[in-house]
Amino acid sequence: MGLTVDSMGKNSVDSGLEIRKRSPEDRVVAIAGNPNVGKSTLFNALTGMNQHTGNWPGKTVANAQGYCESAAHGYVLVDIPGTYSLMAHSAEEEVARNFICFGEPDATVIVCDATCLERNLNLVLQTLEVCGRALVCVNLVDEAQKRGIRIDFEGLSRRLGVPVIPTVARKKRTLRAVLDALDAMMEAPPRAPMEIRYPDCVERAVARILPAAERCAAGRLPPRWLCLKLLDPDESLLRELTLYLGANPLEDEQLAAEVQAARSESGLDKDAWKDAVVSGVVRAAERICRGVVGGGAEGYSPRDRRIDRMLTGQHTAYPVMLAMLAFVFWLTIAGANGPSEALSRGLFALQDRLTELFEWLHAPEWLHGALVLGAYRVLAWVVAVMLPPMAIFFPLFTLLEDAGFLPRIAYNLDCPFRKCCACGKQALTMCMGFGCNAAGVVGCRIIDSPRERLIAILTNSFVPCNGRFPTLIALITMFFAISAGGWMDSVWAALMLTMAILLSVGMTFAASRLLSKTVLRGAPSSFTLELPPYRRPQIGKVLVRSVFDRTLFVLGRAAAVAAPAGLVIWLMANVTLGGRSLLIHCAAALDPFARLMGLDGVILTAFILGLPANEIVMPIALMAYLAQGTLMEPGSTAEMKRILLENGWTWLTALCTMLFSLFHWPCSTTLATIRRETGSWKWTALAAALPTAIGMALCMLVAGAARLIG
Ligand code: GDP
Repeated sequence: MGLTVDSMGKNSVDSGLEIRKRSPEDRVVAIAGNPNVGKSTLFNALTGMNQHTGNWPGKTVANAQGYCESAAHGYVLVDIPGTYSLMAHSAEEEVARNFICFGEPDATVIVCDATCLERNLNLVLQTLEVCGRALVCVNLVDEAQKRGIRIDFEGLSRRLGVPVIPTVARKKRTLRAVLDALDAMMEAPPRAPMEIRYPDCVERAVARILPAAERCAAGRLPPRWLCLKLLDPDESLLRELTLYLGANPLEDEQLAAEVQAARSESGLDKDAWKDAVVSGVVRAAERICRGVVGGGAEGYSPRDRRIDRMLTGQHTAYPVMLAMLAFVFWLTIAGANGPSEALSRGLFALQDRLTELFEWLHAPEWLHGALVLGAYRVLAWVVAVMLPPMAIFFPLFTLLEDAGFLPRIAYNLDCPFRKCCACGKQALTMCMGFGCNAAGVVGCRIIDSPRERLIAILTNSFVPCNGRFPTLIALITMFFAISAGGWMDSVWAALMLTMAILLSVGMTFAASRLLSKTVLRGAPSSFTLELPPYRRPQIGKVLVRSVFDRTLFVLGRAAAVAAPAGLVIWLMANVTLGGRSLLIHCAAALDPFARLMGLDGVILTAFILGLPANEIVMPIALMAYLAQGTLMEPGSTAEMKRILLENGWTWLTALCTMLFSLFHWPCSTTLATIRRETGSWKWTALAAALPTAIGMALCMLVAGAARLIG
């Protein structure tokens, strides 16, 4: 995999972030650095926020801000996407560059990885060229120590001319020094920007245009830095420069002529010029590191290499990945059964108490029906069925992410994605989709090429988000269990779920290929993705983060939608028109079409009403069926199955419901995110139409075939 720059140009991602200061004296500090060096960990530790961290490069795709206080100041910290250089190649690198260069932060903290400091210095030097107040935070010193790497922090600080602080971002106490250094820096005048010595041809060109650039920079940008940018302008940088300075500097005729003359005098073409500038930075980094960084072995440890041989090996990669996936599902299913039953017993016992309360209050029957039998019951179902699997799946997924498995999956899936003329990084956004499709769609910003980014966005909802997992698990347990008893049941269910996921991944490939051969034609681009070292996950943090950030967030959203949806369903089931309830009317109207797909009118109604959140589809269907009956032993899978069977369900109905659950329109949050990310209703409509058409076709095919066979 190499790095190529896409010829189609890039969609610029809005770098504008409205900074929210608590008082006018607050200072704004940008947290910059290469990907995966601990920026978000440091940001979270200082601000107490929960910005997404994980052991893979590229997870922060937009600026985030948080607040912290030191002895002397209030600081608004801005966590910006990781970037290897300020010569931006991708949308998220542009976000980073724009904030560092044009966001006018009061200071910039550049976080570095102590285990590969020299490479990290490339960004440090480029940042020091443009920033007056900056400090370098050498993070991951614990890992560097383990590898025997020695760093002379004072020496490094002298050579760079800025404070250098060693940190272990996972240990909050090591970060005190960062705030102290920031406080001290705020009291002192800003230092002069660093001057890197470039090859002579570059230096001559800079000297020639410097006077004109000085006039143009008007004290707002370091003139030498502006010269370098004007001598090698790219479209997006010029756009930002124009916005920032209020005019395009190259529209100044004298300056444009000087730039032109300086470039031709240098005798370098565009590529050779870039090489000369980059080599200047790389040499400076080498010079600075010589003598201050020593010992230890850079690069991958032998242990990581051994694991990688298995996880990314030609013959072992896919079986190992599948086995891991099945194991995670097995743990989820086996672990969720007991708690689910217990929760539902508890919650439905509470329903009886609520009923007693309503009776005691002599509340009207309709009020009890709407609130307890409607809103509360759907809510209880959602909590009982969703909470346990999510509380197991999310932490397991986050542990794998924190340990560094995600980029390996992207590496393994690079080849099939390229065969579909899509980008291998789509594997990462697809994995994010397992958590939440809306998050997966935002994550697509890590893909540089707009064409490939669109493919990834349009196909993200082909993998089931967490709202759909519980439905799949419940249906598998009810209709496809082998009833061998004990752990065999859960192993079988996990295998079935793995097959469902394989189908959804397969469909992602097929749909990506379809798009790249039709409306989004083009050749696949290549990319560089660094495989991070395997890191021991922070179990406590992972648990807290996955429970609060993800589980409770998804559950809260589901509950927020489930209760009103329960109410609506109860009303629809109880408000009659011509002797029949609205729900029956609706289901009856959809029934003939739904039957073609192996479903029934009620299920299709539930999918439509479930647009706000996928997690409420099954509860809605159950509510609709229950509107004509009563729940004897609420919440248990056996009881649920009885209700479904009484309403004409067969294994075929369950299979088609699973298929349609996998492939139908994304939820409204995801659709709104797609609209925002693509800026187009047309692509949003396609993102809804594509999975729906595939889901309908698959269901009709399966239902038709099953009927033919009899
Ligand atoms: P970012 O991409 O730069 O924002 O990096 P993150 O903050 O997401 O961190 C990347 C990974 O490194 C995560 O798994 C963190 O838990 C881990 N990490 C961050 N700082 C340290 C550190 O100082 N020591 C160790 N051992 N791990 C760290």
